[in-house]
Amino acid sequence: MKNGPIEQNSEQNAVGENITPTSVKVELLAITPDAERLIEKAGRTCYLSFDKMDDASAKKFIKMIVKSGHHSVLEHASATFRISGGSRSFTHQMVRHRLASFSQQSQRYVKENDFKVIVPPSIRENSGALEVFNDLIEHSRRAYEKLKGMDIRKEDARFVLPNAVESEIVVSANFREWRLIISLRREKKAQWEIRAICEEILKELVAHAPTVFEDLL
Ligand SMILES: Cc1cc2nc3c(=O)[nH]c(=O)nc-3n(C[C@H](O)[C@H](O)[C@H](O)COP(=O)(O)OP(=O)(O)OC[C@H]3O[C@@H](n4cnc5c(N)ncnc54)[C@H](O)[C@@H]3O)c2cc1C
Repeated sequence: MKNGPIEQNSEQNAVGENITPTSVKVELLAITPDAERLIEKAGRTCYLSFDKMDDASAKKFIKMIVKSGHHSVLEHASATFRISGGSRSFTHQMVRHRLASFSQQSQRYVKENDFKVIVPPSIRENSGALEVFNDLIEHSRRAYEKLKGMDIRKEDARFVLPNAVESEIVVSANFREWRLIISLRREKKAQWEIRAICEEILKELVAHAPTVFEDLL
């Protein structure tokens, strides 16, 4: 997959077009089977127009639903993704989406002695910045281990961990919510990591339910 330097405002976003590979993995765990047919069946209940259904009718019907803004019909289908190799900065943004459901790697129950970090490309490509970054990570790692050695619980030792720490999260949402998440988080003013991840999520969704998602490409 692709991503780029940290983007906090539109000026930096122009630089963000310089995208480079990362180890983040987006895995589709589950999706409503025959989702477009289900959406059509549910939506046609509003108009009692089942007689108009044939092999090709779902596409036309869903296009009309998307265009008209009658998006509640899209809530009948959903998809679940596992996202690993992203940072806590990314997961913190993702969990702001209140209509989705989440299960995330816990820093209370999982030891972080050997934590991995996500290095933003803007830092990776600047040797001075990378030195500052690595310094902080090593300090943080040592502080965590020292605190653990003093019998401080994981839930408290984690206070010294940086936003760069790698995390894993499973996200479930209905198609209406995925459309919103992707629209908000894939645009240029969004941050590079969540943008790149949403790009991968969108590809999967388009592969399984093209009519619902292809207008977002
Ligand atoms: C570019 C960008 C920059 C951002 N910067 C910041 C920032 O600086 N600080 C910050 O705190 N957040 C920031 N956010 C997060 C943003 O404020 C939202 O929390 C996040 O995008 C979730 O969007 P949402 O609330 O529309 O959607 P969701 O939580 O996914 O909810 C989906 C939809 O349900 C409806 N809904 C959900 N809950 C309610 C409710 N209680 N009342 C009424 N309607 C509801 C709304 O229509 C909403 O759009 C940023 C987001 C983006 C994309």
